Amino acid sequence: MLRSLLLLLSRQSRLRHWLETSAAADRLTARFIAGTDLEAALAVCRRLNQEGMLASLDHLGESVSSLAEAERSRDDYLTALNQIAELGLNATISVKLTQLGLDFSEEECRSNVERLVERARAVACAVEVDMESSPYVDRTLNLVSDLHSRYGGVRAVIQACLYRSETDIENLCAQSIPVRLVKGAYQEPSDVAFARKPDVDKNYVRLMIRLLAAGKNPAIASHDENILRLAQRYAGEHAISPDRFEFQMLYGVRRDLQRRLTADGYRLRLYVPYGKAWYPYFMRRLAERPANVLFLIRNLLRS
Ligand SMILES: Cc1cc2nc3c(=O)[nH]c(=O)nc-3n(C[C@H](O)[C@H](O)[C@H](O)COP(=O)(O)OP(=O)(O)OC[C@H]3O[C@@H](n4cnc5c(N)ncnc54)[C@H](O)[C@@H]3O)c2cc1C
Repeated sequence: MLRSLLLLLSRQSRLRHWLETSAAADRLTARFIAGTDLEAALAVCRRLNQEGMLASLDHLGESVSSLAEAERSRDDYLTALNQIAELGLNATISVKLTQLGLDFSEEECRSNVERLVERARAVACAVEVDMESSPYVDRTLNLVSDLHSRYGGVRAVIQACLYRSETDIENLCAQSIPVRLVKGAYQEPSDVAFARKPDVDKNYVRLMIRLLAAGKNPAIASHDENILRLAQRYAGEHAISPDRFEFQMLYGVRRDLQRRLTADGYRLRLYVPYGKAWYPYFMRRLAERPANVLFLIRNLLRS
C-alpha cells in the first residue's frame, strides 16, 4: 500500500514544486542523486571509473511542458556527450523520450534523439533509452529500432513486469539491439502487467536467461541478490565470459553489492542521475523500498 501511495505522490505536481525548491532538498536527495549540475555528475563518473565501474548519465527530467524545453534537454545531453568525450570517461547517457518531447510531437522527439545518437556515435559513446510507463512502449521500441538500424549504439530497456516483454525481447535479439532488463518502476494495470512481485521476479529470470543466451551485450539491471547470483551461475555454466554482458545498478543503491561485483571482475555500470528535476525519480526509488522513507526521516532529524 505504501508503494502505491508513494507512486501516486510521485505524480503530484504541487508537492513536487515545493520539495524541489525546498532548502532541505540536498540533504533529502544526496543518497540517490549525484548533484544538481553536470559538473557534479561528471565528478561522480570520474570517481566510479577510477573504482572500476562504468556509468550512465541521466539528466533528470521527464514529461517536459513544451518542445522548447525538450530542445533544451537535448542540448544539455549534447553537452554531456561532449564532456564525456573530452574527459575520456567510460560512460553512456540514459534518456527518457518524454523528456525529449514525445508527448508533443513524435517527429520532433525522434529528431532530438537522432541528434544525440549521431553525436554519441561521433564520440564513440552510446545512448540508452529508458522505458517509461506502458502506453509509451510501442513508440519507444519503434524509435530505438529505427535509430539502431541506422547508427548502432542504442540500447533498449525492457520491463519484466509487462506480459508483452518476452515477444519484445525476441524482436530485439533478432535485430541485435542491446537490452537493459529491469523489473519495471511504474504502476501498471493488471491487463498489461503482472500484479504480484513473485511473478515479476519469475519472468525477470526467464527473460534474463534468454538475453544471456541470445542477446547482444545485455545489461542485467537489478539489485536483487538472487537474480545476480543466478546470472553469474548461468554465465559460468554456459561459458559466457563477463565481457559479453554487464550488470547495472542505481547510484546509491546496494553499494555493498556494487563493490562485490566489481571486485569479482564483473562489468558494472551505475545509473547516475543529476539535475534539479529530481522529484519523480526520487519518489520511485522510495516506492521500490519503502524502508528508505524511515532512513530519510532519521537522516533529516539527525541533521
Ligand atoms: C540501471 C537501472 C536502470 C533502470 N531503468 C529503468 C527504466 O528505464 N524503466 C523502469 O521502469 N525502471 C528502471 N529501473 C528500475 C527498475 O525497474 C526497478 O524498479 C528497480 O531496479 C528495483 O528493482 P530490483 O531489480 O532492484 O529488485 P527489487 O526486488 O525491487 O529489489 C531487490 C533488493 O534491492 C534493494 N533495492 C532495490 N531498490 C532499492 C532502492 N530504491 N533503495 C534501496 N534498496 C533497493 C533492496 O535490498 C531490495 O530488497 C532501472 C533500474 C536500474 C538498476
